[in-house]
Formats: sequence, structure tokens, C-alpha cells
Amino acid sequence: MSTDNILKKHNLRVTPFRTLVLSLFTSAGKALSSHDLETELQDADRITLYRTLKSFEEKGIIHKAIDGTITQKYALCENECSEYHHHDEHVHFHCEKCENTFCLEQVFVPRVRMPDGFSAKQTNMVVSGVCDHCVLD
Ligand SMILES: [Zn+2]
Ligand SMILES: [Zn+2]
Ligand SMILES: [Zn+2]
Repeated sequence: MSTDNILKKHNLRVTPFRTLVLSLFTSAGKALSSHDLETELQDADRITLYRTLKSFEEKGIIHKAIDGTITQKYALCENECSEYHHHDEHVHFHCEKCENTFCLEQVFVPRVRMPDGFSAKQTNMVVSGVCDHCVLD
């Protein structure tokens, strides 16, 4: 799907900046931090970038890729995500060599049993190790 179509499908107006930010996600193949995005976008206004990421997240285009590091990263959602159904319960993989974080969309986060009185809303799972690019080096 083209970036314009992704924006339209999620009820966001197509603007050059949104298209640009989204294209970075679609071509990255990994999770991106706001620092990564700022580096790519050079002179982008931080507030505008922050708002763009926030609306992308609200509309189900990107999700937080929690990877156990202090850096907040975002990754592109699967096709089925929308404003109303936004579950990205797959494992995130953090590579210790290249320090990139990847969505392992085929690997589901297992259900964990909660003790009485606790009700789970979201489960995040991070696996760290060496990714398939680095393992060849
Ligand atoms: Zn999502
Ligand atoms: Zn790696
Ligand atoms: Zn993910």
C-alpha cells in the first residue's frame, strides 16, 4: 500500500510531512526512535514531528516498540490495525550488535496468568540477542 493510501485508510489528511515521516517507517524495516527520525528529517520541527507520531499512533499506523532500552521507539503496525483495533501483541527483538529493534510479527506474546485481583490490559515482550543480519558477520 502506498503511503498516501495508508494515511487515507486511517482517516488522516495527506500532507507532505506525514507522507515523508510515514515513508521512513515503511522503508526502515525496523523500529525508529525520534532521534533516528530527526536525523533523517534534518530540519524538521520537533513539535510537528511529535504531533505526527502521536496522531500516527492514535490512528493505528505505528505502535510503541518497547525494547527494554531507555530509547522510545516506534514501528509500523500490521495492516489490520486501526483507530479502534490496535493490538500489536507480537515479540520485539532487540539486537545487541546493531542495536536495532525489530517487530517479530509472526511471534505472538504468550498469555500470562494473572494472580487474583489483577487484570492484564497489555503485555509486552522483548527478546534480545543477535539479529539475522548480524549473525552472518
Ligand atoms: Zn497497531
Ligand atoms: Zn543486528
Ligand atoms: Zn512491533
